[in-house]
Amino acid sequence: MATCKYCNAQLPEAGTRFCPNCGLPQNGAVQYSLPVHKDSSSFGWSVLGFLIPILGFILYLAWRKSRPMSSHRAGVGALFGYSVGLVLAIILRFSVFSFASLLI
Ligand SMILES: [Zn+2]
Repeated sequence: MATCKYCNAQLPEAGTRFCPNCGLPQNGAVQYSLPVHKDSSSFGWSVLGFLIPILGFILYLAWRKSRPMSSHRAGVGALFGYSVGLVLAIILRFSVFSFASLLI
């Protein structure tokens, strides 16, 4: 009985081309890979996430598995964008209150 040379799982037949356990090619079988999406850690995704945090967060969730680098960038950008927006909102709130108290 043949075994997988990568994970030592038993292969169903001697001429099996791919291991049913780990999926790696056996006995010189060529592994065809699906075209992979370009996964770059482009800074643009951070900028996009920063400007539109909700979109960055959605991209982060959608790309977690398929495009981990872009996902990370978009997530970090979204976090920064959300934080800055929150701080600005608090500052604005306080400045409006202090300005209003001057008028009274
Ligand atoms: Zn295997």
